[in-house]
Amino acid sequence: MPTDATHDPSLKSWVESANDPQTAFPIQNLPLCSFEQEHDGHSHPHLGVVIGDRVLDVTTLAMSGKLCGGDEQLARVLHAPLWNIVAGQPGLVRQLRAEIQDFLRSDRPASQPIKRLRDKALVPLAEARLRKPLLSFDYTDFYASKHHATTVGSMFRPDNPLLPNYTHVPIGYHGRASSIVPSGTPIRRPSGQTKADDAALPAFGPSKMLDYEMELGVFIASGNTLGEPIRIGDVREHMLGMCIVNDWSARDLQKWEYQPLGPFLAKNFATSVSPFIVTMEALEPFRIPGPARGEGDPEPLGYLQTSEPWGLDVAVEVHLATKQMRDKGMSPMRLSRGSFRDMYWTIAQLITHHASNGCNLQTGDLLGSGTISGPTKDARGCLLELTWEGVGPDGKPKPRAPIQLPTGETRLFLQDGDEVIMNAFCERDGFRRIGFGECRGVIVG
Ligand code: CA
Repeated sequence: MPTDATHDPSLKSWVESANDPQTAFPIQNLPLCSFEQEHDGHSHPHLGVVIGDRVLDVTTLAMSGKLCGGDEQLARVLHAPLWNIVAGQPGLVRQLRAEIQDFLRSDRPASQPIKRLRDKALVPLAEARLRKPLLSFDYTDFYASKHHATTVGSMFRPDNPLLPNYTHVPIGYHGRASSIVPSGTPIRRPSGQTKADDAALPAFGPSKMLDYEMELGVFIASGNTLGEPIRIGDVREHMLGMCIVNDWSARDLQKWEYQPLGPFLAKNFATSVSPFIVTMEALEPFRIPGPARGEGDPEPLGYLQTSEPWGLDVAVEVHLATKQMRDKGMSPMRLSRGSFRDMYWTIAQLITHHASNGCNLQTGDLLGSGTISGPTKDARGCLLELTWEGVGPDGKPKPRAPIQLPTGETRLFLQDGDEVIMNAFCERDGFRRIGFGECRGVIVG
């Protein structure tokens, strides 16, 4: 799908804040959300899209007959509290994008009824109580950054950090959909089994090595029938859009439990997602060729090969604010900045591989990318990597280097009261900046 008139950078909105060059949400973005709307003293979930510092109430717009080409029957899907039904209908998201953008354009004439509808359908983003925009019945998390896999592998296997299957097969595990929570949900520190290296037996208690993982996720639009794989050439129609994912990880639980079947309770206690779905339509200008394979790396097997540009140029940042920093009114400190363009496996390959055995993906399923890490240390997407100093000449790991914070505090892993704030955005000459918003979570004991 090439870029089209909806990406035109000269388009402006009558919502003035959407025309600010630094906004995450210009008229070219229009990410999907779900929010609580007060009506007759009761709170109802409505669908929305974000425009500047406002939410446009899509449900109200649909009730006024402005969407779905005036087809009232079809527009009923917009009365639902979640985007699942819309997401499962190929082409409908694209149609709504064009219609909503048209409604928001500054160069459209506004009669009195239209002006009243504009007022009625606009809610300040800061006041909107945001919910999860989609119900995900399944969540899978991948391991698509070779930089991440290599650094983490070197902690356990200094001589052989990358296992031989890595360059052939996208590695993943089945996560848990029930514990996906929207940005802003406090994260309870998990308890579990851990075993210190010098202890004879494991113990049960609160994790002492709680970490975050900066990821992006892709939501599935239409699914595939059980037993029928998705060809990589058809993968686009199965993609709805993307969000930020924080795959909270208890490293001490993980270390004790991960062999031989992979992550379990170290991961499934909570996964935070940003509350907006940035649609694949909005991301179209930021598609780039898939990553170049490293020297000596094999070509992917045929079913994972495509000439389509499935790399994505998305900058990702992680910030930390401790309780002390917040109490002192200090700004959050940036811990890392990476790019999704550095991923080894593309989202097209992740989806294709997931369905390659006939596994049926369903509308709303979330596929996490895995920690997004880059070639430099400041592009590492979790504390496990950021504090890693490598292996000394004696072949043993060097002591971890704690992160120094502006309060004088230090961190190897997260403490109670710490807030992790992730954001992501796309920039390209000739196009408007497209942001993902934030994914926040504060640790509580
Ligand atoms: Ca992960």
